[in-house]
Amino acid sequence: MLIRKPVFVYKGDALARYGFGKQHPFGIDRHDAFHQELSSAAMGDRIEYREPRRATIDELALFHTPAYIDRVSRLSEAGCGYLDGGDTPVFPGVFETASDVAGTMLAAVDAVMAGETQRAFVPIAGLHHAARDAAAGFCVFNDCGIALEYLRGKHGLTRAAYVDIDAHHGNGVFYGFEDDPDLIFADIHEDGRYLYPGTGAAEETGKGRARHTKLNIPLQPGSDDRDFAHAFEKVEAYLDRAAPELIIFQCGADSLEGDPITHLCYSEEAHAMAAMRLCEIAAQHGGGRIIGAGGGGYNRRNLARAWTRVVQSFAEAV
Ligand SMILES: [Zn+2]
Repeated sequence: MLIRKPVFVYKGDALARYGFGKQHPFGIDRHDAFHQELSSAAMGDRIEYREPRRATIDELALFHTPAYIDRVSRLSEAGCGYLDGGDTPVFPGVFETASDVAGTMLAAVDAVMAGETQRAFVPIAGLHHAARDAAAGFCVFNDCGIALEYLRGKHGLTRAAYVDIDAHHGNGVFYGFEDDPDLIFADIHEDGRYLYPGTGAAEETGKGRARHTKLNIPLQPGSDDRDFAHAFEKVEAYLDRAAPELIIFQCGADSLEGDPITHLCYSEEAHAMAAMRLCEIAAQHGGGRIIGAGGGGYNRRNLARAWTRVVQSFAEAV
């Protein structure tokens, strides 16, 4: 009989520091907003807190180009300006802080691959807009892209899945692996005609020999839990066919009703349901291995609730 190990939940100042100041939607208070809600859920020994760690430059380079890593490093020392067209400001130490986010995802990967736990959650992570050679949309280093490359390079996994339910399309991950038939990719998001980054049409299924291997599901503004559940059935069928060895779950909370910068209307139960189903799929195909990454979410109450429900599902799923 399988004895369920505690869900690893990552917590610490190094993670909390990833944010762009008080006037910016991605503030440094998001980490504590979540951890306060999680601690009030009194999960006892069903969760275990773990410390962040920093990614090395070689680890960043698994996904990012050396020229881009260099650029972030130089701007970080200068301490001012923008990393992109105006969404992602530089702050002093942004290089180290973004490396902490990426490294913490890798710590979660190592823990899950070593069998220390089956399920892990990193609240400040899922920075899915960063491209291999550029920052974008509040995202400096693409921790999920790095983790997917790390799973291959260090752990020899060839069939990892990336599942993204953030309101925004995970363009950094999608285009980073667009021509790679081995990456299992499913993304439910607000239709790009109404929301940044404008990509992720249903026709975008991969290119070259990866054509028809990826799943993008755009939803109309105002879509609710029922619309999400309907779309998620397609994700489940796709994953069942693909049989992933591990799932990375970007569970952005900006798809909940009341987010200040998006227009979807789920409740936190959408996130709870998705987390539960993904645990079941992981158990069937991938030895139960799943890692949650918080992603977006700019209404603090929403992100606190949605991510707590994800962790509860991780703890409760059979
Ligand atoms: Zn988002």
